Amino acid sequence: MGLFSKDIETFEQLFLHSLKDIYYAEKRIAETLPKLVGKASSRDLKRGLQNHLKETEGQIERLEEVFGLLGEEPKGTKCKGIEGILGEGDELIGNIADDKVLDAAIIGSAQAVEHYEITRYGGLIAWAEEVDRSDIAKILKATLKEEVATDKALSTLAEGKVNPKAEGKPARRRTVARRATKQPAGRKTTARRKSA
Ligand code: FE
Ligand code: FE
Ligand code: FE
Repeated sequence: MGLFSKDIETFEQLFLHSLKDIYYAEKRIAETLPKLVGKASSRDLKRGLQNHLKETEGQIERLEEVFGLLGEEPKGTKCKGIEGILGEGDELIGNIADDKVLDAAIIGSAQAVEHYEITRYGGLIAWAEEVDRSDIAKILKATLKEEVATDKALSTLAEGKVNPKAEGKPARRRTVARRATKQPAGRKTTARRKSA
């Protein structure tokens, strides 16, 4: 931003700025995920993060496709939001000695990233729809779907396995299985922990 002129004047320029912002963010996330895979102990968590790294690489390609559709060269602009979220996660992770507690912290940090991405993609999709670029909206929606699914998968893993282990309890397999298959709760529910 210049001192005497403002760089963003139009709605289209605002979109392009957000596109560059999320492009930068996705690249930073792709750099960070392998480090989280290395620090995670839970095999499910490692696998989940690895899968999302592959998805993230595809998401970067989708963004490059969107730049192309706008006649622009793919270029990032520093995203202070993701730098803050990743920096906070890194600091937290560096302060935890216990492996199981660390897994819970990795999930919490990863979910903060997913939520940032969800808000940005939501905004970009709304813009694309506003200006009748359904071609662009469709590409971005494919990524948004992956971000939402990742967030949900992390919640399931945290609630079913990682959080109970961090607390020093066995995994709540039965509860998770029942929730996943939507089976009605049977007699065994009495053993289930009451949720607040
Ligand atoms: Fe992403
Ligand atoms: Fe940003
Ligand atoms: Fe993501």
